[in-house]
Amino acid sequence: MATKAEEHFMDWLRDAHAMEEHAERMLGTTASRMKNYPAFKARLEQHQQQTRQQASLIKGCIERRGGSTSTVKDLAGKVAATAQGLSGLFVSDEVVKALLGSYTFAQFEIASYRSLIAAAQTVGDVETQRVCQQILADEEALAGWLGEQIPLATQEFLARAAVPGTTAKH
Ligand code: MG
Repeated sequence: MATKAEEHFMDWLRDAHAMEEHAERMLGTTASRMKNYPAFKARLEQHQQQTRQQASLIKGCIERRGGSTSTVKDLAGKVAATAQGLSGLFVSDEVVKALLGSYTFAQFEIASYRSLIAAAQTVGDVETQRVCQQILADEEALAGWLGEQIPLATQEFLARAAVPGTTAKH
């Protein structure tokens, strides 16, 4: 029978899987809307690829431990992600909002994987710990890139917004 720690660990792995499904959808929607910020668009698309791998790695950890992914959680994540990705439709500074949102989400993922790594240590799951450390490195790289990009893209947005007839928002 699973211990309390093992039960929580399984729940958190399912949360992480739903989080990656959410991220995958959100990254795709946001990337498709960025017309004038090619570096940001390319980085989002690159991370979308990584995110697909991350979702599949986490699914592998869940299944190795004898569990299955939660369709309900994954579906709720996808609906929320599509809504979130399209929220840029209603703002005039979509690229800035998308950078802030992406950075915040990357930090949430970093926090989640740090927690999962600690839980994997507690339950003695060396393979899941290794997978989570690998994913954590992807997320830290993304957060670092976005952190540098926020001031640059903000200034680029303001410069574009100052020119009449130029699309600045995305
Ligand atoms: Mg991720």
